[in-house]
Amino acid sequence: MKRTLIVANWKMNLDTAAASLLVHRLEERIKIYREIEVVLAPSMLVLQPLSLQIDRRKFRLAAQNAFYKDEGAYTGEVSFTMLQDLVHYALVGHSDRRHKFGENLETVREKTAAAIRNDISPIICVGETKQEKLAGETGIVLHDQVTTALSNLTSDNIDNVVIAYEPVWALSNGTDYLHHEIPKPDDITKAVKAIRSNVAHLYGDKAADNLRLLYGGSTNSSTAFDLLSIEGIDGLLVGGASLNYAEFSGIVEAAYRLHYEKQETTHAE
Ligand code: PEP
Repeated sequence: MKRTLIVANWKMNLDTAAASLLVHRLEERIKIYREIEVVLAPSMLVLQPLSLQIDRRKFRLAAQNAFYKDEGAYTGEVSFTMLQDLVHYALVGHSDRRHKFGENLETVREKTAAAIRNDISPIICVGETKQEKLAGETGIVLHDQVTTALSNLTSDNIDNVVIAYEPVWALSNGTDYLHHEIPKPDDITKAVKAIRSNVAHLYGDKAADNLRLLYGGSTNSSTAFDLLSIEGIDGLLVGGASLNYAEFSGIVEAAYRLHYEKQETTHAE
């Protein structure tokens, strides 16, 4: 059984003191679960202090972004090389980056390759806008985003890749995650099947089966269990709700409950 991956994307929130307090509160609530991997993606500034604070049996760190060149005259940027000793994961192609910072398919491909080159697992975020959904273009958008992002990799690299299906229209504004519209389970199933079949086409069925695939978009502690129960979903990428310790630890708890129930069913058979 794959480990469930729960990723907190704090976005441009929480300075060092606030991040430290949130981690302290999460550490009190989140137990060590072998079956669940909990990853925190704070701002760049906070990665270093958190790396000294976190209980590594409970948490791993992710960068929210990095630049694809390893070093050089790129004022203001931080490279994947510089993050190598700090993080296990990095978000790549998050909707905020694609839509607010103009990152295109090629940028995402370069960043994915740079992450892999530096032994960091990219969490590649893909998903359609509302307009693309209404135009019936979800399949083609996912195809283009997935195949371009993976096109510089070898089949050996694929095991280190995570893909997050995050429909742009389902993302919260950071506070309305309890009431925001999210996709129907069937639509999530359809999207993750399409993503796996893109990966199978490029790297074979085994790579597609092994791929860890997350859902992201207005998740919270009340919806986490059902979302994680959807076939083909291996975890969640959580934005707004990850800033609230009760919500986020509730999501991790839901992941644990599901694992436990699955184990019980397997033993009973
Ligand atoms: C995100 O932005 O990656 C995200 C999942 O946000 P939210 O959960 O707030 O919709």
